[in-house]
Amino acid sequence: MDLILKGQRLLQAKGVEAARLESELLLSHILSCDRHQLYSSPQKKLDSSIVDKFMALLKRRLAGEPIQYILAYREFMGLRFDLDKSVLIPRWETEILVKHIIDQAQGRPVKLLDIGTGSGAIAVSLAYYLPQSRLVAIDISQEALDRAEKNAIKHGVSHRIDFKRSDMFAALEADSYQAYFDIIVSNPPYIKSQDIEGLMPEVRDFEPRTALDGGADGLKFYRQIAENASIYLKAGGLVAMEMGHDQASDIKDIFKRTGNYSSGQILKDLAGIDRIALFHKVNKG
Ligand code: GLN
Repeated sequence: MDLILKGQRLLQAKGVEAARLESELLLSHILSCDRHQLYSSPQKKLDSSIVDKFMALLKRRLAGEPIQYILAYREFMGLRFDLDKSVLIPRWETEILVKHIIDQAQGRPVKLLDIGTGSGAIAVSLAYYLPQSRLVAIDISQEALDRAEKNAIKHGVSHRIDFKRSDMFAALEADSYQAYFDIIVSNPPYIKSQDIEGLMPEVRDFEPRTALDGGADGLKFYRQIAENASIYLKAGGLVAMEMGHDQASDIKDIFKRTGNYSSGQILKDLAGIDRIALFHKVNKG
């Protein structure tokens, strides 16, 4: 189809790698059809309003906006998450974190806390794949919580997730939630503040700063988690977090210094990069 080719060429000229695929995705989004259906009547003349809509979306993509925000969804753990600019686009690496927890918790009625839930990618997929689980999902952003809750409703798990607006642990009443959770999970912001300017423009200019910025050394949220998680976890409970590629030893130090956790375990992603940090609350005599 000429229009797909036109989109492809413009995207290629901007250096977009999967130009053909993205052009097809944009057109199928407008036509509300499957990408493969685009070719079932390839010579069909598209009316001008369709062409205009396509060009408008293409323009956004050419200006650097991530395709996931334009399409307003991304697949994560085999589920479709609706997105808007108030939330980080879920990343494939985060599936390693979710899969590890599913393996650990399978068949048990676990209680989980997801810190900084964003789109709800972690909390909703855990609730979905662990049907006996109950979750509390917190975020500092009400817009993000609204988005996450919609995703929970869409996947039929909202009755098992309590969404709470909270700056980290601030709104979690210690008396209700002390030693309450089996697992605390988080994919916190972990980019150093001064590195944000150097990120890819697609990330830097479109994804929410609050979802990226981990403070001066990128470790701010790990410190807060280390300090507080042991209050809210059951003895032996697990803290499981995603992290940046060079943060493993700093995070291990931070958790070690509290004296409240096991020495920790690091999981690598498929590229062999340190990606997930795991600690257990130690059972103090
Ligand atoms: N928990 C969400 C995710 O993993 C958002 C994380 C974030 O915004 N830092 O996609």
